[in-house]
Amino acid sequence: AKNCGKNNAKLYSSSLTMQIMSHVKLEVGLRKALKNEELYLLYQPQIDVRSAEIVGVEALVRWRHPERGIISPNEFIPLAEETGLIVPIGEWVLRTACSQAKAWQRQTKRLVRMAVNLSAKQFKDENLTQIVISALHDTGLDPKLLELELTEGTLMDDARATMATLEQLRAIGVYLSIDDFGTGYSSMNYLKRFDVRALKIDKSFICGLPQDSENAAITRAIIAMAHGLKMAVVAEGVETDEQLVLLEEFGCDMVQGFYLGHPSPHDSITLMLQKVCTI
Ligand code: C2E
Ligand code: CA
Ligand code: CA
Ligand code: CA
Repeated sequence: AKNCGKNNAKLYSSSLTMQIMSHVKLEVGLRKALKNEELYLLYQPQIDVRSAEIVGVEALVRWRHPERGIISPNEFIPLAEETGLIVPIGEWVLRTACSQAKAWQRQTKRLVRMAVNLSAKQFKDENLTQIVISALHDTGLDPKLLELELTEGTLMDDARATMATLEQLRAIGVYLSIDDFGTGYSSMNYLKRFDVRALKIDKSFICGLPQDSENAAITRAIIAMAHGLKMAVVAEGVETDEQLVLLEEFGCDMVQGFYLGHPSPHDSITLMLQKVCTI
């Protein structure tokens, strides 16, 4: 009985050691992931509610780990942010996504906006505008067809610096949107001053629709506010026809979610774009 606590402590510390080791191993692996071409992108369609056409796609990164299989971004993006690896990884995502958007334009003659997630670390990186300019220049993608998704947390962190960076990005001509809208802290005052084109309503508000009357009220209010500010609205996480019907009734502009299309490899999206084109 005397040893119990000790043993427990030992057990605990050894599992903690294992956790730390696997964290370190993951970090070492992530450092090599780019060079070893273990990262790849999936693309999820964004559908215009009125025309029912694909007007954009969101690039979502995946990591094919040599031993652990496919790792979700929810697991490795926080690690990439902690270590600063998000800057080179984010640049790779941006270049790959721009080049894919340009390829679709050539292959299908359709203009599809490419949405790329930008983490707070990337947004604060002093080289950000240069990285965006050179990705657009090297791939030949029209800046209007590149959308950068920023979270409320990223935007609200340092209002003065945010304003300056947004102004630089606006000058390039890229399309800016606020991701996961409603889950973070947004000042309505800043929302008015930031030159942002679209709000993406977080999927936590959409998932209870149409039954959840509180989420329905919030969703309706976000759409009305966004339209009042001349912003477009994308609903994320649309999984059912009932949700789509309600969102259409609310005047939502664009929808994204499993009901309309899962994140898919580039060639599946090519087929979707060609199909709509030949009708
Ligand atoms: P996010 O930007 O909010 O992306 C939407 C997430 O919702 C994606 O998860 C997508 O697969 C998932 N999703 C789409 N439709 C549905 C639906 O109908 N129902 C449900 N339940 N989920 C849906 P994913 O791909 O696992 O990405 C998770 C998060 O990782 C992203 O959330 C984003 O914050 C981050 N992330 C992904 N790729 C990148 C990247 O290239 N750079 C950065 N900085 N972050 C990324
Ligand atoms: Ca996003
Ligand atoms: Ca989101
Ligand atoms: Ca998110």
